[in-house]
Amino acid sequence: KSGFVAIVGRPNVGKSTLMNQVIGQKIAIMSDKPQTTRNKIHGVYTTDDMQIVFLDTPGVHKRQSKLGDFMNQTALNTLNEVEAALFLVDAAEGLGGGDRFIIEQLKKVKTPVFLVINKIDQVAPEQLLPIIDKYRSLHEFAEIVPISAKLGNNVNTLLEQLGKYL
Ligand code: GDP
Ligand code: MG
Repeated sequence: KSGFVAIVGRPNVGKSTLMNQVIGQKIAIMSDKPQTTRNKIHGVYTTDDMQIVFLDTPGVHKRQSKLGDFMNQTALNTLNEVEAALFLVDAAEGLGGGDRFIIEQLKKVKTPVFLVINKIDQVAPEQLLPIIDKYRSLHEFAEIVPISAKLGNNVNTLLEQLGKYL
C-alpha cells in the first residue's frame, strides 16, 4: 500500500510535530511563527507493507493578500491530488474561526478528510466528546482520531486507519 497524505490545520496545531513523530526525524520546520513552512514539506513513512508520503500543506488557512488567494488555490490543488487529508485541530484551544475557514476549503475537495484531534494530553478525557461533536456538526469526516503528536499517543492508530485509504 502506498499513497500521499496532506496535513492541514491552522498554525500551531501541531502539523510539524506530527510529521516528526511519524517520520522519526526532524524534517518539518518547527516554529511558533505562523507560515514558516511556505513550501510543502515531504516526509516519507515506510514500513514493510506501507509507504506514505506526507505533505505539510501551508496556505489552506486564511490569508489577507492576493498572494494568499494564490496559495489557497495551490493548497486546494494539493488536497485534490492526495489519497487522504489529515485536518489537525487543537483540543486545548477548541474550535475557532481559523478552523471554520479550513473546513470551508475542505468542503471543496472530494478527498477523504480525517479529523485529527491533537494535544489530547492537554485536556481531560470527558472534554473530548463535546469537542468531537462540535467539529462533526460542521463536516462529515472520513475518520476521527484523537492523538497527542508530541507524546505519540494513538499515532499508530492513525497510521492504521490511513492504510484503509491507500
Ligand atoms: P504547526 O504550526 O501546526 O506545524 O505546529 P507545531 O508542530 O510547530 O507545534 C506548535 C506547538 O504545539 C509546539 O510548541 C509543539 O511542541 C506543540 N505541540 C504539538 N503537538 C502537541 C501535543 O500533542 N501536545 C502538546 N502538549 N503540545 C503539542
Ligand atoms: Mg509547521
